[in-house]
Amino acid sequence: MIKNIDTIVSKNIGEMEWVLKEFAKEAVKLDDKGELTITTLEKLAGKTIKSLIQIVLLMMGGFLSNVVRSEVNRICSCGKKMGISKRDVTTRILSMFGYVPVTRDMLFCRRCRKGQGVFDKELEIYGEHRITKGMTEIMTYMSQLVPSFERATEAIKKLLNIEVSPTQAQIISEEVGKRVFEKEKTKAELAYERPEDAAPQEVVKNLKEGRLYILTDGSQLNTRTENNKGSTWKEMKLGLVFKDSDVIKRKDGSQIITKKEYVSYLGSVGDFKKFLFAAAARAGYGKVKEIVVIGDGAQWIWNMVNEVFPDAVEILDYFHLNENVNDYAKFLYPDNEVKRKKWVKSILDCVLSGKVDKAVRLVEEKGSNNLPDNIVNLCNYIKNNEHRIDYKNYKEKGYYIGSGSIESANKTVIQQRMKQSGMRWSINGGQYIAALRTKHESNKWDDVVEEIFAS
Ligand SMILES: [Zn+2]
Repeated sequence: MIKNIDTIVSKNIGEMEWVLKEFAKEAVKLDDKGELTITTLEKLAGKTIKSLIQIVLLMMGGFLSNVVRSEVNRICSCGKKMGISKRDVTTRILSMFGYVPVTRDMLFCRRCRKGQGVFDKELEIYGEHRITKGMTEIMTYMSQLVPSFERATEAIKKLLNIEVSPTQAQIISEEVGKRVFEKEKTKAELAYERPEDAAPQEVVKNLKEGRLYILTDGSQLNTRTENNKGSTWKEMKLGLVFKDSDVIKRKDGSQIITKKEYVSYLGSVGDFKKFLFAAAARAGYGKVKEIVVIGDGAQWIWNMVNEVFPDAVEILDYFHLNENVNDYAKFLYPDNEVKRKKWVKSILDCVLSGKVDKAVRLVEEKGSNNLPDNIVNLCNYIKNNEHRIDYKNYKEKGYYIGSGSIESANKTVIQQRMKQSGMRWSINGGQYIAALRTKHESNKWDDVVEEIFAS
């Protein structure tokens, strides 16, 4: 029951009427001056709507402050009975429309030395942040969408006229990200431990036509934690899973993937593989005829594939091969662009036409002495991946061969949010924001909303 409901309503209707009449008066004034346009009215409407929102917020506060429950739960979570310590204490709860003032009596537990409002639990006015779930979602959404927590708060100020601090935005979104991440982790571990349930293997004749693509890549994230070699850089592993039937060719020849799932993990392959396996299982691993894994030359990727997707066709991402050949050519011909381009073309032509042996010979001819650290030993790279660069054959069969899709995924999902200059992440914070990024870019933001409202 809400006490004084009629008084609250009639008082606020009076206020609203006054605000709307003022709105009309101002409009008439504008018209008298010959200044009535949609532009001047829009400004005026802004003021009016702000006032109306204030009235609604006060009404919300009025309802919550006047709630009466027949039973007052005075038992603290520790089991001790609480007593009333103060009357009429006001707290402000930040909602997506502004602050809601709630006034109520306070209970206090003498054992825990903690207090709370009389019906705080029942009315969901709890938690140390005093922020509603709607506002929590907005802060979390903005914090993962734009390049920094500072920018997130700028956008919230501009669009909602609500001020929150970047630290607040960070704390809130990392808390939500943590819950999202841990739920995914639990699912991933379960799928990995019980593959027979997560991805039961159909008998061959029942397999669906089609291909399941699994793309993986890593990129370095700057953290606040030094590893045992003194470096603060840590690899963020990223995976992308989609089916060929979910790829649509547009008229201009470009392609979009309508249904896809990203997974990210800031840490070892031992855990990452579980996330990737769970995503593949969700996409139909075990039911689809062909599995194709595309990755760069990193050994961890192929070791993982051997264990988790032993039946997959392995393809070395052509984008990475191309990049490595170009870097190597820069080392061979630092000052001669014509020769450099010609050499790059000769190597790539060989590889693309199925003459891998010849490509190896051409690289070997040049030798690899005094190779700087940041240049990949191309000869070994090609030899080690010999069975993954049969591009001629892959193209004939209609496989994708990489060419940058995971690279641009890395930019979209991770880099634009997490690798701005000067950015450094705690390992957990980085993981939690990445979990939110992957949900957003996989079109699964609903999972995040669900997590917020379920708590
Ligand atoms: Zn207690």
